[in-house]
Amino acid sequence: MNRILSLETVGKIGEEVLLKGWVNARRNMGKIAFLDLRDRAGLVQVVGVPNELDEASNEDLKKARLEYCLEIRGLVQERGEKQKNLDLPTGTAEILAKEIKILSESESMPIDVSADTKNIDEAVRLKYRYLDLRSDRMKKNLELRHAVNKFFRDYLCDQGFWEIETPTLTKGTPEGAREYIIPSRLYQGQFYVLPQAPQQFKQLLMVSGVEKYFQIARCFRDEDQRGDRQPEFTQLDMEMSFVEREDVMGLVENMMIKMAEKVSPEKKIQQVPFPRLTYKEAMDKYGTDKPDLREDKNDPNLLAFCWIIDFPFFEKTEEGGWTFTHNPFSAAMPEYKEQLLQKKDIEKIIAAQYDLALNGYEVGGGSVRNHESVALRSVLEIIGFDEEQISEQFGHILEAFKYGPPPHGGIAPGIDRLVMILANEPNIREVIPFPKNGDARDLMMGAPSPLPQKVLDEAHIKLK
Ligand code: ASP
Repeated sequence: MNRILSLETVGKIGEEVLLKGWVNARRNMGKIAFLDLRDRAGLVQVVGVPNELDEASNEDLKKARLEYCLEIRGLVQERGEKQKNLDLPTGTAEILAKEIKILSESESMPIDVSADTKNIDEAVRLKYRYLDLRSDRMKKNLELRHAVNKFFRDYLCDQGFWEIETPTLTKGTPEGAREYIIPSRLYQGQFYVLPQAPQQFKQLLMVSGVEKYFQIARCFRDEDQRGDRQPEFTQLDMEMSFVEREDVMGLVENMMIKMAEKVSPEKKIQQVPFPRLTYKEAMDKYGTDKPDLREDKNDPNLLAFCWIIDFPFFEKTEEGGWTFTHNPFSAAMPEYKEQLLQKKDIEKIIAAQYDLALNGYEVGGGSVRNHESVALRSVLEIIGFDEEQISEQFGHILEAFKYGPPPHGGIAPGIDRLVMILANEPNIREVIPFPKNGDARDLMMGAPSPLPQKVLDEAHIKLK
């Protein structure tokens, strides 16, 4: 007999079924025992009546405690009118057990996963994350994340995008964040870094003629932690050739609308087309470049997307030089191109950058890029790179741009924040299967951790 999921039982009144799952609750009523059996899909009530079961099954029924993993064969029955529980999707049915087998036992649980784990100490939840994920809310968050990823993947494939993987062991680029470094064993004193984004690879793929690329990409940034930040996080990384700002924004806007309709039909998008604010308007009016435009901030189902455009390309550093506000690879808006090339009125240059904000969070940013090496060179010179630094750090991309690079642009919506907002969760740890805690530690695996001397020696590392 094929095993079915708890939710499927409601359509099978009168049939015998095979279920597998965990004991979510147990109630003894005299000789009869009621078990709530939980599987990936939900819960179903199982009734264990001694004279319906053989000896071995009766033994296992007696032994079965919370979180034991069970296999149950039984008859699906309609519950009596008074016993129906309309709050439970399977609440009109119950399973009269005919055979019960313990597949594995459980010690008493460090956390109660039969209810919402929200109020349990996060350190304990993270240490036992694999148990925390058994709980209904966390399971739903995992499923929602899966649905969002699947939607984006299907949508982009339908639009002719190719899903392409780019390296994780790579070389550092100054894109604004501190990078994680990986010592090379084979080349003493040399290092790989983990990518803060696949930015250069995706642009190089445009030089390759790929035209439409996406990747559900892990990005790494060694920064101080905040509620909506993690050392590693996931972006829907995209790049397209022969596009202008409007093309990228239009595609992403349509994708977000369709995604919300499909995965969170209970949500309402406040305004379509998404309102657009220039950076200056946003700062003047709301004092932030990720304003929360919801008309009713208590409505959990309201999604207020907005675009922020016309960002200044550069800002002053503390030392009095210039740095880019977003990305050194962005182009200037066409009307500022000459100014960029001549490095004139630097503070007035507007970048072809667009950010997508949602309910007060930045959920994506991107730009049309400089595909001409002179313009990219100009950006690097403005931020104070000398010839040696330029060729050391950007030589490969400047070289690539010698060979007929297409005009291109892209964006990278953040999966973690999007799912967090759709799930009405207060931080991204709730929607990341195995997150680090607020201090960047993995409490379950125990990372970071010291390494044996032999391993350090092999990697040519001497601790200070
Ligand atoms: N690479 C950028 C980022 O990670 C996104 C982009 O411009 O496409 O923020």
